[in-house]
Amino acid sequence: MNEEVRDITIIGAGPVGLTTAFWAGMREANSQIIDSLPDLGGQLTTLYPEKWIFDVPGYPRVLAKDLIDQLRQQSIEQFDVPVSLETTADRVEYEGEGSERVLRLVTDKGDFLSRTIVIAGGHGAFEPKKLPGFDMDPWEGKGAHYLVGEKSAFAGKKVVIVGGGDSACDWCLNLLDTAAEITLVHRREGFRAHEVTVKELNDAADAGQVAIRTPHQIREVHGNGRVEGITVFHSETEEEEHIECDAILLQLGFKTALGPLKEWPLEVEKGAIKVDPVMHTSMEGVWAAGDITTFDGKLKLIATGFAEAAIAVAQAVHHIRPESRIQPKYSTNTGVPGSVEGQA
Ligand SMILES: Cc1cc2nc3c(=O)[nH]c(=O)nc-3n(C[C@H](O)[C@H](O)[C@H](O)COP(=O)(O)OP(=O)(O)OC[C@H]3O[C@@H](n4cnc5c(N)ncnc54)[C@H](O)[C@@H]3O)c2cc1C
Repeated sequence: MNEEVRDITIIGAGPVGLTTAFWAGMREANSQIIDSLPDLGGQLTTLYPEKWIFDVPGYPRVLAKDLIDQLRQQSIEQFDVPVSLETTADRVEYEGEGSERVLRLVTDKGDFLSRTIVIAGGHGAFEPKKLPGFDMDPWEGKGAHYLVGEKSAFAGKKVVIVGGGDSACDWCLNLLDTAAEITLVHRREGFRAHEVTVKELNDAADAGQVAIRTPHQIREVHGNGRVEGITVFHSETEEEEHIECDAILLQLGFKTALGPLKEWPLEVEKGAIKVDPVMHTSMEGVWAAGDITTFDGKLKLIATGFAEAAIAVAQAVHHIRPESRIQPKYSTNTGVPGSVEGQA
C-alpha cells in the first residue's frame, strides 16, 4: 500500500478536478486524483465529447474533448500528477492531530493519504443505464457501446443507436459524417429531446440519412463473436424486422449518485454538498468545487467551477502551510513552478 502523504487528494477527474490539480501545482502543492470512470473528463467525456462549448472564456468555441485534453496537459501532464482511474472514494478516516493530521481516503482500490481533500465529484459517480428487457452485457466490447470515446470508432460502420432522449438524437446527428448507416431505435413513439434536435433528426430521416424505428425494441442480437445484426420488434404489433449492423450505441442516459459520499458527515442539500464562501465543507480538511457544491448564487458551469477550484486550493494550501498567503501571486510574474517538490 502507498503510504506517501500528499498535500491534496482530489476526488473527480472532470474539468473541475483537473483544474484543482492545476491550481495545486501552481501553489507548489502536490496532489493526486482519483475517479471512478475509466477516462478523464467527467461529464464532458462521458456525455458530450463531440459537442462544442461556447461559454468557456478564452475559447470562442471548443469541443468538450479538446477542452479536457488542454486541461490534462495543463494539470496532470505539466505537474506530473498521479491519477488513479476506476477508483471510487468510499470514506475518510482521520489520523494524527494538529499539523500532523492526515486524511486517509479509503477507496475500492486501496487507501490514499493526504493533508487535505478537495471533492470535485460532479453529480457523483456515473453509470450508464442498461437496456431494460434485454441483456446487452455479452455484446459489450464486441460491438455494443455505451460511450462514444472517439467518433472514429464508428467510421464506415452501420450503427444502430438505441434511445429517445437528447444524447441518442444528438449522436444520430453527430455521426452523420462518420457512420455509413444510422438507424435510431426507440421503444416509444416520439423523442424527449430539444425541439431543434428533433427537427434536424426528422430532416435527416426525410433525406434518407437516418432510418427511424419507433416504437421498436431489441429482441435479439446476432453475430459470430461480434455484432452483425439485430432483430427489433414493434412495441405494439410485435412485428419483427432484421437490421444489419456492426455497432450498437446504447444512449439510455446515466445514473449518477453521490453514492458512498452520502454516508460522509457532510452537509448535503438536494444531492449537493453545502460549502461556505471559501468552499469548505462541514468536514475538517475537506473542500469541494464544481457541480457537486451548493451555496447561495451557485451556477453549475465549467467556468465557475474553475474559480471554485482556485478558491478551494488557496484555502487548502493555507491550511497546510499557514504562513502562505491565500492570494496567489500573478502567474505573469512567477511563471509556472518548474518542478513541484514531492510530485511523482
Ligand atoms: C449535455 C451537457 C452539456 C453541457 N454544456 C455545458 C456548457 O456548454 N457550458 C458549461 O459551462 N457547462 C456545460 N455543462 C455542464 C458541465 O458539464 C458541468 O458543469 C461540468 O462537467 C462540471 O464539472 P465537474 O468536474 O464539477 O463534474 P463532472 O464533470 O461531473 O466530473 C465529476 C467526476 O467525479 C467522479 N466522481 C464522482 N464521485 C466519485 C467518487 N465517489 N469516487 C471517484 N470519482 C467520483 C465522476 O466519475 C466524474 O468523472 C453541460 C452538461 C451536460 C450534461
